[in-house]
Amino acid sequence: MQTLVIDHPLITHKLTALRETGTETATFRRLTDELVTLLAYEATREIRVQPVTVQTPLGDAAGVRLGSPSPLIVPVLRAGIGMLDGMIRLLPMADVGFVGLVRDEKSLVASTYADRLPADLTGREAFVLDPMLATGGTLQAVIAMLAERGVTSVTAVTLLAAPEGLKRLQEAFPGQGAAGAGSQAGAGPAVVRVVTAAVDDRLDSRGYIYPGLGDAGDRLFGKV
Ligand code: URA
Repeated sequence: MQTLVIDHPLITHKLTALRETGTETATFRRLTDELVTLLAYEATREIRVQPVTVQTPLGDAAGVRLGSPSPLIVPVLRAGIGMLDGMIRLLPMADVGFVGLVRDEKSLVASTYADRLPADLTGREAFVLDPMLATGGTLQAVIAMLAERGVTSVTAVTLLAAPEGLKRLQEAFPGQGAAGAGSQAGAGPAVVRVVTAAVDDRLDSRGYIYPGLGDAGDRLFGKV
């Protein structure tokens, strides 16, 4: 697995404001949206393209178009929905599939309650949106679900990650670090990447990222 922590002053500035307890819902939503677009720029660095030539008013210009099949964006319900617009802004042609997982607050084990993904994802590049990579249980389950349906790569876009969650994913998908690494990869897609704005200290006793930003779903959409 490949982990990219995006070190950029604008990202750190927006993340700092996002963390603050006093940041109100409207601002929290806007900052999440903006952060995801900035992260999406890095998350799509290796997206499949095909060479094309176009005619400018003066002559031929070599360039690229995004390849086929089109990428798939997978927001993890509920908090991942708050990241969707920010990702679609850069990938307006992408399909969107939805998965819902909820974790038991005591055991911290994630179980699936919604699955609106195409049955066949052969050859697709997937971008999974989940703001908090905490224990890693949710992302591990979603990546495994996508791998079973044939995706070639999964890039998870998260705002914050805990070392515990990154370790878990690294152990689950050890060889899947880069294009071409899939042959020694074992179960799972050929490539697994995590793109995040920061890696925090640790998980607390309730499985929250510390210092983190609290419950991302509650801060985006209100308490349930
Ligand atoms: N989910 C959240 O919303 N916050 C955390 O810190 C961990 C999981």
